[in-house]
Amino acid sequence: MSAKKKLSYFPLIILILLVGNVKAQLDPHLSGPEFVDKSLYDNHEVLEDIFGKPDAGLEKTLIKVKGNLYRHTNGTLPALHSGLVLITHEGAIVIDPALTQAAIWLKDEIKKKFNVPVKYVILTHAHYDHAGGSQVFQQAGAKIIIHKNGLEPIIGEKLPVAVPDIIYDKQLTIKLGGETVIVKHIAPSHSNSMSVVLFPQYKALQLTDVGESKTMPYNDFLDFYYDGWIETLDWALKQDVDYIDVGHYTMATLDDIREEREYIVSLHQQVLNLVREGQSWDQLYRNVKFTEEVKKWGGFDAMNKLNILGMFRWVSNHRRGVW
Ligand SMILES: [Zn+2]
Repeated sequence: MSAKKKLSYFPLIILILLVGNVKAQLDPHLSGPEFVDKSLYDNHEVLEDIFGKPDAGLEKTLIKVKGNLYRHTNGTLPALHSGLVLITHEGAIVIDPALTQAAIWLKDEIKKKFNVPVKYVILTHAHYDHAGGSQVFQQAGAKIIIHKNGLEPIIGEKLPVAVPDIIYDKQLTIKLGGETVIVKHIAPSHSNSMSVVLFPQYKALQLTDVGESKTMPYNDFLDFYYDGWIETLDWALKQDVDYIDVGHYTMATLDDIREEREYIVSLHQQVLNLVREGQSWDQLYRNVKFTEEVKKWGGFDAMNKLNILGMFRWVSNHRRGVW
């Protein structure tokens, strides 16, 4: 290549470097973001939003946890879904709108009560029952954040939710209006797209679906990774937190998380032992023992056999004996 030819590439290289640099600094509130090229997903197919229609009977609340930190809930039971909300003078940060019909209400409620726009929506993972409604906030100008593993299932499963604007790998830090919010991926746990969200100034943690508040893990542990689940609970147990929102029902304490960890580890060990004894499913599920405490947890009757089944599948898929 001639010197002249080389030189002719020079402005192009400078331009690429500049654009790259500008892109990295697109949002001064964030450290660790990657920006999604949403044009790649223009007009991608989505399924019907089954919770998109207004439901006057749906209960919704936005209640103060502490200082500028709030918790939104929707549905009864006492809360079918929930997520933390941080209000700052530069805008609000919402975790998991959960349902479109609730998101419409929540957007208006934040505007009415605090008169600030929602700047960021953090999706704890790529499941429809938590990510639903994110499109409502995106259309109003919010940036949607999810762990990088969350993009594929949102597109692949044709979820009727926002295509996220921002993804990250290990940690994303948001600094907004004098507040700090840390979004972290500890390990694949409940899905491989799980984020936990720490509010250090409030000693608060969002631990959706991985944490439980004296309630049984849902169903057959759908989309779960046993090792990463325990790793995530162990990480949570090391945090200095007083308020833990688990995305459903009531808020949890670190003691609840400790008890939940004991339950899941015990279930795993019992199922593994029974499988190694050569028991078939039909024998095995009758021989798993639950403590009296666990028997009192919310959803025990509906979920206990399903929990055994989910753990039986996990154990069966992650062992090999002689041969
Ligand atoms: Zn989930």
